[in-house]
Parts: sequence; structure tokens; C-alpha cells
Amino acid sequence: MQVFKFGGASVKDAEGVINLSRIVSAHQQDQLLVVVSAMGKTTNLLEELTSSYFRQQGDVFELLQQVKQYHDTIMRSLFPDSNHPVYHEVANRFVEIEWILEELPADPYDYLYDQIVAVGELISTTIVCHYLNDVGLKSKWVDARDYILTDNTHREGHVDWKTTTERIQRGLPPLLKNQRVITQGFIGSTSENFTTTLGREGSDYSAAIFAASLHAESVTIWKDVPGVLNADPKWFDQTELIPELSYLEAIELTYYGATVIHPKTIKPLQNQNITLYVKSFVDTDGKGTQIRKSNESLPVPSFIFKINQILISVLPKDFSFIVEDNLSDIFAKFHRHHIKVNMMHNSAVNFSVSIDDTGENVTALLNDLATRYEVQHQKGLELITIRHYNQQTIDRVLVGKAIILELKDSYTCQLLVRKLST
Ligand code: ASP
Ligand code: MG
Repeated sequence: MQVFKFGGASVKDAEGVINLSRIVSAHQQDQLLVVVSAMGKTTNLLEELTSSYFRQQGDVFELLQQVKQYHDTIMRSLFPDSNHPVYHEVANRFVEIEWILEELPADPYDYLYDQIVAVGELISTTIVCHYLNDVGLKSKWVDARDYILTDNTHREGHVDWKTTTERIQRGLPPLLKNQRVITQGFIGSTSENFTTTLGREGSDYSAAIFAASLHAESVTIWKDVPGVLNADPKWFDQTELIPELSYLEAIELTYYGATVIHPKTIKPLQNQNITLYVKSFVDTDGKGTQIRKSNESLPVPSFIFKINQILISVLPKDFSFIVEDNLSDIFAKFHRHHIKVNMMHNSAVNFSVSIDDTGENVTALLNDLATRYEVQHQKGLELITIRHYNQQTIDRVLVGKAIILELKDSYTCQLLVRKLST
């Protein structure tokens, strides 16, 4: 059996859903489980709606209307019959959000977020599943929350692999025999049946969870790029397709911030030796990228850009050295504020880290650090990571930039830079 994953960009309009059905119909020979994300920018809109509701600012119902309107346009084009059951089912999903919005927010933000934002995936899969059945591709809609069990960490649910695997292995093979299974990425539920999410862009990870539990032959992530490129085309105009990657190299690239695949996706696939294909949903005949077990992957220099970095430098107030004692204290503070370190460096009396400048929790971290240390910071920096670097690649990215911090090992070079004003 195979697992396909379609992200938001692939189903951003009616044409996208039709294209998905073409891809699915070209794979009739195998059992297929299809994981679908929320359509287009729905997750961002629902995020905005949640935060506006939580703060009781702005017009939440207007935002909701926008999300409804967007899906309605897609549905009108896919289902001309206004009595089609899909309209009723989707409307019911929106009612779930309305119920929440009618009360004042009494629950923690992260909990509310999961209950509201998950609706994006529930709706997209409802639309996709109906459409597939309408065009003769027999499919069954499955609620991922009945299978993926997580702990209570809202917005970053940790998967209980044992129970999840058991549930998937018990429930899904009989369904897959007769039809395709269509389910949501990104969402799961707690043992008390509260909805959780797995972290932004987590649908890739969901696909890997289903694939690993079902011992799938392969997973294919259908994207708006031809495969894994050596840089994000958003930042780089000359990108190259990487035809083949080892699991290890893929893990490294995502660890340093390559956004093409969610970082948690690779490990479960590697454990089961399941090949991961990253392919274009536009040019479906393109070869794409194959990620699998291999001792050598092509050393194509790859570039990963992270903008909006803040460099934090920490100096002990008492002029003591940076040693195990205060390092563990510093890391505990980062952990407490849910902050991920992108690059770090320490000297005898100074510890420096670069992190994403995400606003409120960074301010909280700075205040927390200031209780014991002298803290300095620089904002507006960029972090450039080059895998398989050489001097030429370094020179190429440094045009118009000044280096603030540079770290190198045999394969990876990290450059924290400031743009020079022109
Ligand atoms: N819809 C979710 C997001 O946009 C999950 C995903 O697309 O993977 O983050
Ligand atoms: Mg997405």
C-alpha cells in the first residue's frame, strides 16, 4: 500500500481538487491512503480567528465568513447540485466553530486553537472525499482523531506510538481493501477525546505515522515544487533539484530549517525503511526526489535561509565562566519558553544563540535570562546554513552581507549575517 499526502497549496481551489483526483486515478493498482491538509491558507485564517476570539478583538464572525466563503466557492464549482450532502456536512463543521465563538473564551489559548484550527482539515477532507466518490474513485472518509492518539500538549501533541499503531493496524487494513481511505493530516486527539494538533505543517508527519504503522511501501508528498531543491525558490533564483537523498541527509536539511518536509517525518519512515518521494503535483511525470536508505547521497550544496533572527548573548553577572552549571540553567530557560535554538556558540564568559524572533515568548525569555545574567541582543539578522559548502558557495551568499557569527564543521557552515545597507 502507498500513502499520498497533499498539502494546502495542492487543494487551494477547485482545480486543485480535480488535479488531486487525476493523480489518485492514475494509481488504481495499489491500496491508497490519502492525507490532506486544510485548503490554501485556511490554517492561517483560522489561526487569526482564534487569536482574535481569544483577545476579544476584531470581528471574528467576519473572519469566519471569509473562511466559509472561500470553501463555498470551491464547493460550488465541484458540486453544482445545491442539494449535495457535502454542503450540509461542511456547514455542520462550521457550526462547531460557531458554538465556541458564541461563548467568552474560558479555556487556554493552545487548547482553543486546536479545537478551532483542526476544522480546516476536517472540511478539506470532506470536500475531497465527496469529490473522489462523485468521479467514481471509491473513497472512505476517516477521522484521523480516531487513530492518532497524543498527549495533552496542545499545538504540539506528542504521539503515543503504541496505541496509535495498534489502532491503525486494527482499523484501517479492512477499509483499504475496498476503497481509498481519505484522512486529515495535522490532527489527533487526547485520551479524553479532545482534538490536538501536531505543530504547523504537521501533515507530512501524519502521513509518516500512517505509513509506518501500515508498513507502507512508500509515501509520496505532492508539492508545488519539483521535489527537494537545494534552496527554497523563495530566496534563490537558481535552484537545483536533488534527485536522491539519504534519510540522514534529509534529516539534517530539515533540522537546519529546510521547510520542504516537516522535520519529524523522516525518522518513522527510516525506521521502517519506507521510501519517501517528494513530487510535483503540477508536473506529475517529473521524477521528483527519492529519499531512502543510502550510504552516499549526492553532495549537492544546499542552502537554508532563516530570516528574522535575533542573536542573544548571555554573560554571567558575576564574571564567572560559562560552564555546565550556568549552561544547564540557560537551556532550561529556553526550554521553559518553548524556544528552539538555531545556532549557538560559547566562549569563556559569553554564550550566544540565534533564535527565531517570534515576539512575546522571546521577550519573556529575555526577562527571565536577565534575572541572572547580563543579556544583550541584536535583531533583524539572517541565518544562512550551507550543507556541503565550499568557499564559492560562501562567497555567493555573502554578497551585501556582514558576518556576525560563523560556525563550520566538515559538512555544514552556518553564517549569521546582517544585511549591509545600500
Ligand atoms: N494545515 C496545517 C498547516 O498549514 C498542517 C499542514 O498543512 O501540514 O500548518
Ligand atoms: Mg501546509
